[in-house]
Amino acid sequence: MRKFSVVGCLAAVLIAPVGLDARQAGQLPALKQEAATEVDKLQTLTQQMVDEIFSFSELGFQEYETSRYVTGILEKNAFRLEHGIAGVPTAWVATYGSGKPVIAFITDLDCIPRASQKPGVAYHDPIVEGAPGHGEGHNSGMAVNVTAALVLKKLMDEHHIAGTIKIVPGVAEELLGTKAFYVRAGVFRDVDIVLGAHVESEFSTSYGTGNGEWSGLVSVQYFFHGKAAHAASAPWEGRSALDAVELMDTGWDFRREHLRPAQRSHRVIINGGDQPNVVPSEAAVWYYFRELDYSHIKDLYELGNTMADSAAKMTGTTVDHKLVGSAWPPYLNKVVAETQQKNIEAVGMPKWSDADQTLAKALQKEIGAKVEGLKEKIEPLSEPAKKPTGGGSDDIGDISWNVPMVYLMYPANIPNLPGHSWANGVAMATPIAHKGSTAGAKVQAMTALDFLLHPQLVEEAWEYFRNVQTKDIHYETFLGPDDKPAVEMNKEKMDRFAPQLKKYYYDPQRFKTYLEQLGIPYPTTRNKP
Ligand SMILES: [Zn+2]
Repeated sequence: MRKFSVVGCLAAVLIAPVGLDARQAGQLPALKQEAATEVDKLQTLTQQMVDEIFSFSELGFQEYETSRYVTGILEKNAFRLEHGIAGVPTAWVATYGSGKPVIAFITDLDCIPRASQKPGVAYHDPIVEGAPGHGEGHNSGMAVNVTAALVLKKLMDEHHIAGTIKIVPGVAEELLGTKAFYVRAGVFRDVDIVLGAHVESEFSTSYGTGNGEWSGLVSVQYFFHGKAAHAASAPWEGRSALDAVELMDTGWDFRREHLRPAQRSHRVIINGGDQPNVVPSEAAVWYYFRELDYSHIKDLYELGNTMADSAAKMTGTTVDHKLVGSAWPPYLNKVVAETQQKNIEAVGMPKWSDADQTLAKALQKEIGAKVEGLKEKIEPLSEPAKKPTGGGSDDIGDISWNVPMVYLMYPANIPNLPGHSWANGVAMATPIAHKGSTAGAKVQAMTALDFLLHPQLVEEAWEYFRNVQTKDIHYETFLGPDDKPAVEMNKEKMDRFAPQLKKYYYDPQRFKTYLEQLGIPYPTTRNKP
């Protein structure tokens, strides 16, 4: 058998330049059908991945269990693994196949501080009080991409399809912490098409600036250094680093009136001193500066630095700053999006059960959102917004300015939720997330087949990238030559919570689902319907 398949592969390689592409292109509809059937066959594995990663609940840069688990599955399936890419310990690249085209899948791994939540429960009920949790739904992304990749591997082997597939994790996406570093390290240098996937309550894709609700950003921490003294008996001997933080913040808030409406900036004080009777010798504040394009983001960044320097001067302190994240506003490829849209339409929305809808409506009611349950229809591909307003950010933006890319939004969560909160975790280890991830995996696999079997489609995507997207705008990184990934972030928090979370890691050997392991009736609502 083994010998036979080697001969088969060789024959495929030898005749690949003539004839095979055309013949395979004719097989495309049947191959897509086969891909969908194979994704369905992997539903149990998809569900296990969703549930397992949900139970790990790891914050950005600390995704050790998650990465170990996912790379374990890929290694077992003959993917070649490269660990610690771009100087990030929890980052890796998994590769299967060889030659062109090279299709890379990317999706995030990390979760949200304080978002611990029991799945399937329509009110706030943490698994571990105060612990991180998947209050964004990133736990479902790898289930989507790994399922798609395993199916593609099977089809590539059986049908001798040439090309390479890669899987890359979005480490520390919530900190916008890695993808600019991946780009700098050349992770996407030989990649032809990037297929990103992100959890949503809808099934959609977009191109250009999409609905216009994307901003780019830099994330910067300012560390002020003063002089300690007794705050009552010798305050004149001290210089307060906290005063500098407060003056910087006040200065920024006055200046805000005179900034473009498109800007969004926010901060948290990460060190406000120790106790009131000690003049704080150290204090620190962390800013996100968001705007619509590179030059405006850079202007905000420089203004922030000026404010910090001025606050230091006013208080007789010193300041230094550290860039801990950056992101270009994403710009997605029209050719890839149009291709993907057809596959979304072919797959269609998952079939929600009454229990799924009951959970969705109960949660919407609980948080005071519009009560309309789960979405039943897919979204059409629309024209990009003429006037972008800005909004959230995602460091896939940096990738999208280097390789033709799309971002599949797959329907694995409940609509009308606040985002980055316990409420966004409620559906994320339930049949809603499981079914949505299966639907997403089908679209990822089918879209990859489109590009693997139609080399001219890859060319068209690059034409759009070169002649439209990057005609006048050229990518420049926000990273300085000395900037490094902030890999130490979240370590303390994760060290504190991991021992408690470990008791609740999902064990698929003993329990069919995580809901079953936690003994949660599905759905659990305040008032039984
Ligand atoms: Zn996200």
